[in-house]
Amino acid sequence: MTDPALPFQLGQVQLGNNAFEGQNNCYVLGADTDAGPTTLVDTGIAMPDTEAELREGLAAYDLTFADIDQILLTHWHMDHVGLAGAIQAESDCVVRAHEADAGLIEGNPEAEAESRETLERLVDEWGMPDDKREELFTFMELGEGGAGDTPDVEPFVGGATFDAGAIELEAVHLPGHAAGLAGYAFDGRDGRELFSGDALLPYYTPNVGGADTRVDTPLADYLETLAGIVRAGYTRAWPGHRGVIIDPVGRAADIVVHHRERTEKIVDYLRESGPADPWTVSAHLFGELSSIHILHGPGEAYAHLHHLEDADIVARNGREYALVASSPDLDDLFPDVSDLALRPGAIPGPG
Ligand SMILES: [Zn+2]
Ligand SMILES: [Zn+2]
Repeated sequence: MTDPALPFQLGQVQLGNNAFEGQNNCYVLGADTDAGPTTLVDTGIAMPDTEAELREGLAAYDLTFADIDQILLTHWHMDHVGLAGAIQAESDCVVRAHEADAGLIEGNPEAEAESRETLERLVDEWGMPDDKREELFTFMELGEGGAGDTPDVEPFVGGATFDAGAIELEAVHLPGHAAGLAGYAFDGRDGRELFSGDALLPYYTPNVGGADTRVDTPLADYLETLAGIVRAGYTRAWPGHRGVIIDPVGRAADIVVHHRERTEKIVDYLRESGPADPWTVSAHLFGELSSIHILHGPGEAYAHLHHLEDADIVARNGREYALVASSPDLDDLFPDVSDLALRPGAIPGPG
């Protein structure tokens, strides 16, 4: 599938895997021109079915893995980076990722140990029960193969620009869902467009707090990312999952409003029920959890509680957070984008 309205070929291979948010996108640039490197944005999870789908999808652009010159990754999650190693092995292409995620993508032992340590410390601090912790870690171990063979990675920082055939892509750091989440902006049909990775998705709110436990202030970072998307005024966003977003500004505003509503719910809950740990708050918000949601649910609750703690609206005592402001004003905690939001309250969680 390509977008005929653009002045250059933007190819899209949709991968039908059901891991995480499902239906990962691999975007194809420069297949129609010799003017610059043939470039992929993200690759899909390293599973045989997905690899076969990607090979077949690329064949529609007369490409094999060996033809790829450059891979730009949006973040370290395996459903985005998994096949990068296999493609690099066949093509010797350059693989680029934001410096905050490059170590994890390369399988750097120090980066992995640090990430694992933070994860284990936080699931303990969140009050996750032992049986759920075991279920989560078993789920994660079983899925490890999806990360594939690790590629060599060239790290970059936000603002870096890359030649991608007919267009130039500018890396935009969009932290929150992952520490090193990078989007790639370019001149599109009627303004700047953005490959948004999992920073902006059409149906889910990208998880914050659990999806990358290395992020110190996940909700604050993510809200700044969303405010940045609003300010930039992108005219289209090409997300890491599912179809194109035709109003990225409205979508970003929606997600801000959704998070504010979720914060209000948590404040109400603490007011009614007294101090609670993130696991308990998560159970109130999302109910019983399985698979990766065992991590994403309490992570999301933690992201909100931590945001409230930084504003002195709640105070943490051990694992529990208590409401200390009786009628808190949340205006300072969220960018004011309510006039731009399209469908407030219409977003399911925990994503
Ligand atoms: Zn992700
Ligand atoms: Zn994803």
